[in-house]
Amino acid sequence: MSKKICIGILGGGQLAKMSTLAASRLGFDISIMDKEMQSPAGQLTHHETIGWVDDHLTLHSFAAHCDVVTLENEFVDHHRIETIEQLGKKVFPSSATIALIQDKLLQKQTLKKKRIPVPSFLAVNDDDSYATLAGKLGGPFVLKSRKMGYDGYGNAMVDSEHSLRDAVRHLSNRHNNLMAESFVRFTMELAVMVVRTKKEIRTYPVVQTIQKNHICHTVIAPAQIASAIAKKAIKIAVDSVKAVNGYGIFGVEMFLTEDGKIIVNEMAPRPHNSGHYTIEACVTSQFENHIRAVMELPLGSTAMVQPYAVMINLLGKHDPQKRMEVYRTALQHPDMHLHIYGKSGSRPGRKMGHITITGNNLKKILKEATALEAEISL
Ligand code: ADP
Repeated sequence: MSKKICIGILGGGQLAKMSTLAASRLGFDISIMDKEMQSPAGQLTHHETIGWVDDHLTLHSFAAHCDVVTLENEFVDHHRIETIEQLGKKVFPSSATIALIQDKLLQKQTLKKKRIPVPSFLAVNDDDSYATLAGKLGGPFVLKSRKMGYDGYGNAMVDSEHSLRDAVRHLSNRHNNLMAESFVRFTMELAVMVVRTKKEIRTYPVVQTIQKNHICHTVIAPAQIASAIAKKAIKIAVDSVKAVNGYGIFGVEMFLTEDGKIIVNEMAPRPHNSGHYTIEACVTSQFENHIRAVMELPLGSTAMVQPYAVMINLLGKHDPQKRMEVYRTALQHPDMHLHIYGKSGSRPGRKMGHITITGNNLKKILKEATALEAEISL
């Protein structure tokens, strides 16, 4: 029997878990590196490396038994990815792409250089005053950690000198370098998944994302927007991926303004929360297409197999129910798909799972998914 091909994933969270499931179905082996044992993806494979990329030996032995490597978040220092590449292993996305994306300032500069619309932005020094920054960006504005931000943890709205000082102190704990950008008065947030190989590029439908406390809560597919706007969003998403020379799967988050303008918020070089609905609602899920791209194989159709889909995240709540109660509640609805990530502990706001429902009547499935999410406590 020939040796199985092994795909290494840096990080073992829910994105790695869903990628592992897709890879396993295609007959690939998966190797997971995570700081913790029995991560959601680590539970699915015998090839679990415990440790992180900054430990040279661990990184070398992980890379040695992988045929190709990918990642589930953009926080892996691009120099470490370069080390893997120097060991002769391909990484998707490459260290050069990650370098352009993981620093939000560099990412925006890269997109702007390619004339892709982004909010006005600038680098922030500790001693910049509110008046100076608001003079350039308008006030209020958004202060952001240039690196390591997720689920809004690296962001703060700033509307005065006092709130600027507070935010600088608070965000500097996360990462030293900060940037600021104009607050965009958007009417809707949109996202497009793009998957690209050297031979092909495919896009998934434009979706609407609804955030609560800066965390993605609900995704509606397809977004209920004019087709001209959808076309524009898709073109901007494709241009964004090309701008960073990206291969693999990418999520591009955008704002839609009242006057029909589309402005890129940020891009993610990996499967994305806004694409979870593709597991049940599209011919080929974002996870399978990512694995296909990583293996440089032909891509699958990104078309929807049902007219509409709604995905709602199951975020940790204060009083988690007994797990069997969750199953009994969620599975009462015959069209509801339940995903539980298998994280070791719940805390309020932590992404613990999600539900997806597809159908012909958007209003109905949105109502059903919303009602069900309210009943579940994970
Ligand atoms: P993260 O990287 O933590 O996900 P984002 O920068 O994507 O953070 O921001 C999270 C959410 O905060 C966005 O989905 C949006 O709702 C809001 N947001 C971020 N930047 C802006 C902005 N410039 N103007 C208005 N809202 C913003």
